[in-house]
Amino acid sequence: MKIGIIKETSDKRVAIVPDLVSRLILEGNELIAEKGCGALALYSDKSYAEAGASLMNRDEVLKSAEIIVTIAPLEEADYAMLKADTIVISSYQPYFSLDQTQKAATHQLTVFSMDMIPRITIAQAMDVLSSMASIAGYKAVILAANHLPKYFPMLTTAAGSIPPAKVLVMGAGVAGLQAIATAKRLGSVVQAFDTRAAAKEEVQSLGAKFVEVEGSKDDKTAGGYAVEQTEEYKQKQRERIAEEAVKADVIITTAQLRGKQAPILITKEMVEQMKDGSVIVDIASSTGGNCELTEDGKTVVKNGVTIIGNSELAAEVPTHASQLFSKNVHNFLKIFLKEGKAEIDLENVILKSACIASKGEILYGK
Ligand code: NAD
Repeated sequence: MKIGIIKETSDKRVAIVPDLVSRLILEGNELIAEKGCGALALYSDKSYAEAGASLMNRDEVLKSAEIIVTIAPLEEADYAMLKADTIVISSYQPYFSLDQTQKAATHQLTVFSMDMIPRITIAQAMDVLSSMASIAGYKAVILAANHLPKYFPMLTTAAGSIPPAKVLVMGAGVAGLQAIATAKRLGSVVQAFDTRAAAKEEVQSLGAKFVEVEGSKDDKTAGGYAVEQTEEYKQKQRERIAEEAVKADVIITTAQLRGKQAPILITKEMVEQMKDGSVIVDIASSTGGNCELTEDGKTVVKNGVTIIGNSELAAEVPTHASQLFSKNVHNFLKIFLKEGKAEIDLENVILKSACIASKGEILYGK
């Protein structure tokens, strides 16, 4: 198959790195890449050419590719260039932007949305959500440390002692656990909480304290995801968070509800109670944010508290994020690419969940 790589229009990452180019060629495929596609992730055109890709302009890639792999959905103008039946692999998040999926379906494309891959053991090696969330959790702490006008570790010096920074992590999933580990490595004192009971042991195993709020609803059939909580629980949770937020120097929020708006965990009133110079990094900002005052894609200072709303932090570590994304893509392609030919069986549990459009029809939700 002819596999195309294009330059992302608003992201530093690239979906396929040169190392994967050479592997896919060995597996019987032809790779075509837009000039400059990996530049912002520090993968040069020379490295793509050496790996065996043919470099061309964007339109040429789009017109001749049989498979296109991207990080974000294609741009409006790109669709018209593609042949019908082209296989597009990307992250469409159909529950938030079904119009994007509709566009792809109208153009008769077969779309696999990597974010729809089920969170089952056999699919772990293809899980871009986890790979990217882990990087985001790490980068959130680094960003917070950069903005905090204080040290993270405890220090005893001839000039006096410095207490460790207090970090509160909300949502101890993939991003949250990596944030905890990073904040611990930097020497801060870390607390975390989550509504899923399984998170308690994971938080504690990283040496952080688990903030207990009794009475959360947990659903084992939700595929590892959290579920919406009752009003009574939310009230209890807000009171408990308020107690901890006033003491925190840094709050990293990562709480998500699959396919829904993120839960508000930090209210305006809580921010008003926080210490001057404190930092909130809200990774859930693209779905509304966990802090009431978050502005997606912006860094704002409210009441002396710096609030960073950024759900794309993985893009700020573009070299490694692209490498991991590529590895996930490769594992996904292996399901249906056999000796350079696509053999798509939509009865396969992973392909069935990930395929959101085919033959002009939207399959998401069916
Ligand atoms: P996510 O991004 O959907 O949510 C992040 C975290 O926020 C979750 O831990 C969630 O429980 C938490 N959260 C939601 N509402 C909250 C609230 N009101 N208050 C506090 N916390 C709240 O989830 P994720 O990090 O992608 O994954 C969650 C879990 O799924 C993982 O920890 C893991 O156990 C499981 N998982 C399994 C696989 C697999 O088997 N392939 C892959 C990835 C994740």
